Amino acid sequence: MTRAFNFNAGPAAIPLEVLKQAQEQFVDYKGAGMSIMEMSHRSALYEQVNNEAQSLLRELFGIPDNYHVLLLQGGASTQFAMLPLNLIRPGGAGAYVMTGAWADKALKEAKLVGDTVIAASTEADKFMRMPDMSEIVVPDNASYLHLTSNETIGGTQFTEFPNTGNVPLIADMSSDILSRPIDVSNFGVIYAGAQKNLGPSGVTVVIIRDDLAKDSPKTIPSMFRYDTHVKTNSLYNTPPSFSVYMVSLVLQWIKAKGGVAQMEQYNRDKTKLIYDAIDQSGGFYLGCAQPQSRSLMNITFRIHSEELEKQFIKESEQEGFIGLKGHRDVGGLRASTYNAVPLESCQALAQFMADFQKRNG
Ligand code: PMP
Repeated sequence: MTRAFNFNAGPAAIPLEVLKQAQEQFVDYKGAGMSIMEMSHRSALYEQVNNEAQSLLRELFGIPDNYHVLLLQGGASTQFAMLPLNLIRPGGAGAYVMTGAWADKALKEAKLVGDTVIAASTEADKFMRMPDMSEIVVPDNASYLHLTSNETIGGTQFTEFPNTGNVPLIADMSSDILSRPIDVSNFGVIYAGAQKNLGPSGVTVVIIRDDLAKDSPKTIPSMFRYDTHVKTNSLYNTPPSFSVYMVSLVLQWIKAKGGVAQMEQYNRDKTKLIYDAIDQSGGFYLGCAQPQSRSLMNITFRIHSEELEKQFIKESEQEGFIGLKGHRDVGGLRASTYNAVPLESCQALAQFMADFQKRNG
């Protein structure tokens, strides 16, 4: 069996140990005579999986008791709409920190639902950095402040978070959840699609402080209300059971590796290899993000000629590297180095980059 050097942006690499465990349990889950996919979501066995995914998230991420952990469908993109639907108060506005493509998508959805305001923007710098805390202005009528902790396409990441006082801070952590320790109590809501750091696509984690999961406008349909999912332990309707199961295995894997602080150290070691390859290339490779905002999850870089970039992608694929093409909206190159991407893949990429430069520099 050969495993690719998988740098996909999402869906992305899943630990081999997890895939093997799922393979072992695939046909007969814990002696039930059926796979987890064939089982009622009301069964005791599935309820254990649902509860375990939630309790491991609580343990690993240090989620306080006054927060709910929801496992929903519809991806982070559904949260772009669900948040403003539930949380923009009468006379209030959703405040957004504009940092790139994903922040923009979140804002566009909120605009369809209520009033919005831009609390900071780094557009003048082509979104190649995250704003300083001092640049973020939370207006008086803000119902919340929304930010994107890691911009998957631009390759920028917040290294600190604003203190928003009584205004709930909301973060789209789709591309960096559980990649580093975070003080969850600073946030009102954290949400993330699973398909980068938590497992396969199909399930979205929403961590929501209990006071924010109440008092949604009465007119919101059931599936789009947070209180529906709180009251039913995320079993209001049929859940994406296989995805939740896979997330629970990935969480067990993170725990066995030493937890989130260990993940951060591992991610720093991995990304250093590639950022060093960029910085020590004498300008052959150019990092896109400004150094203080460089992401530990998505490394974006360019080569001075688009021809060479094409050549880089072609040759890298021949060598077993997958997913190094930049997002179609921005071009260039990108290596996504989520928790499950092994150090060995990053070592191999750094070596490939040096060799490619030698041949073409
Ligand atoms: N936010 C961010 C930061 C993302 O990277 C993505 C997916 N790439 C999304 C939101 C959208 O997620 P989904 O496809 O789960 O709706």
